[in-house]
Amino acid sequence: MDGSAPSAGSVLQEVFGFSGFRPMQADIVEAVTHGADVLAILPTGGGKSLCFQLPALLRPGLTVVISPLIALMRDQVRALREAGVAAAALTSANTPEENDAVFDALGQGALKLLYMAPERLASGGTDRMLAGANVTLLAVDEAHCVSQWGHDFRPDYLRIGALRRALDVPLAAFTATADAETRDEIVERLFGGASPRIFLGGFDRPNLHLAFAPKSNPRKQILSYAAARRGLSGIVYCGTRAKTETLAAALTEAGHDALAYHGGMEPDRRREVERRFQTDDGLIVVATVAFGMGIDKPDIRWVAHADLPKSIEAYYQEIGRAGRDGAPADTLTLYGADDIRFRRMQIDEGLAPPERRMADHGRLNALLGLAEALDCRRAALLSYFGEDEVTCGSCDLCQSPPATFDGTEAVQKALSAILRTGESFGAGHLTDILVGADTEKVRARGHDGLPTFGVGRDIDRRRWGGIFRQMMGRDLIRPDPERHGALRMTEAARPLLKGEATIRLRLDTIESGSRRPAARA
Ligand code: ADP
Ligand code: ZN
Repeated sequence: MDGSAPSAGSVLQEVFGFSGFRPMQADIVEAVTHGADVLAILPTGGGKSLCFQLPALLRPGLTVVISPLIALMRDQVRALREAGVAAAALTSANTPEENDAVFDALGQGALKLLYMAPERLASGGTDRMLAGANVTLLAVDEAHCVSQWGHDFRPDYLRIGALRRALDVPLAAFTATADAETRDEIVERLFGGASPRIFLGGFDRPNLHLAFAPKSNPRKQILSYAAARRGLSGIVYCGTRAKTETLAAALTEAGHDALAYHGGMEPDRRREVERRFQTDDGLIVVATVAFGMGIDKPDIRWVAHADLPKSIEAYYQEIGRAGRDGAPADTLTLYGADDIRFRRMQIDEGLAPPERRMADHGRLNALLGLAEALDCRRAALLSYFGEDEVTCGSCDLCQSPPATFDGTEAVQKALSAILRTGESFGAGHLTDILVGADTEKVRARGHDGLPTFGVGRDIDRRRWGGIFRQMMGRDLIRPDPERHGALRMTEAARPLLKGEATIRLRLDTIESGSRRPAARA
């Protein structure tokens, strides 16, 4: 590769066998090839590896790739070698002979790409070895592993910043995790304050239909959703292992091909379910989030959440498994007040430090904002990922805009009931107070003497349930982590209480699911 440098386009075709670039790839390849520091955020399957592999071939010298998964490194190295590229990996899975061969090749300057697990950076010899290896580019795959708040944190990723300074070469970092906090953390920790060129894109999946529905009877809701998609491959995500079993049984009873899948099952059984999902037509897998990593089935026609996912990132990743082939696919997420309480408690009762918990509440809020949205869900989702807002015209809310009402007064009444009872009670008892119910608990506490008692009689209990859920969804109230089930007011509610803001709420009368299912592929 000297003298007349080949063009990116010709290497793309001749080495990788692709006829054109995916969205964003051409721009990223050009920036990396020209030695810019780059942070590229592309969704899974967006084609990130090409964005450092191709520049590695166009640039002189060696590109070092830090990657967290041994299996992934081995796959990439194998594919590169098959394409005639001098690539190798240094991982803990190498035999001593393999290591020797890598060191020999390095000594001769014969390698174009060297993959390394982050653990390698901790061993003293690595810096010295790389210092003499004519490294001209550092690429970091799964760059979000440097984020301490993320779930994939790898402490050795923190050493990459120092390696970059020692080698004094450009750095190109790649991830599918798009939220702003993670992005800032990557910039700070990998680029040490220097500002990389940031490429963000391709998060829109126009073939996915997005829908949410308040939980009324989840089993019935999932059964009727599946019935409308009979014979099409789908995944139902559940919050607990037990629920995957009962729901799979219910679907089987209703005549579907359905199997449960969760982390508590024997590994052999899990592999069997994965294999059947891949090969059988029209199988439904009812699973916990343990199902998905490594599932690469292009024609999953629908994904339903029987319970609310834990964050907007988790939601995006899970629905994103549907419709990889580009043909229409449907998604439905059920959520209720119990889900919101459960997810909040899970965060509060976790062992994470306070800042991390705050960030997790924020990610949950973003998902709840999507669940309780009043207009285009796709626009809300994409704006979270930093993409331009559009109105899609094809999500559940674009298709049938929800009926709304001015909820300011109702919210003020609910807040007042919460405050006057010392922020010590759950939605059930608060509703009793609002509708003026004559219960033992109300009498025992003397709550029938409160000025708020009965002020919400004009609204029925079921609608109060929806109002409390929406108040939780908008983060106006939160369950008290110290007192199970008790609701507290948040700062966000203060302007409403003081009459300085108004709020529109949904009437919750429309049932989604009216949409025709995705066409059979
Ligand atoms: P990511 O790391 O972003 O999840 P990969 O780099 O693994 O994605 O690429 C996903 C798939 O897309 C791979 O099978 C890859 O070969 C393929 N691919 C990448 N770029 C192109 C392209 N320009 N044209 C066709 N296929 C591509
Ligand atoms: Zn829309």
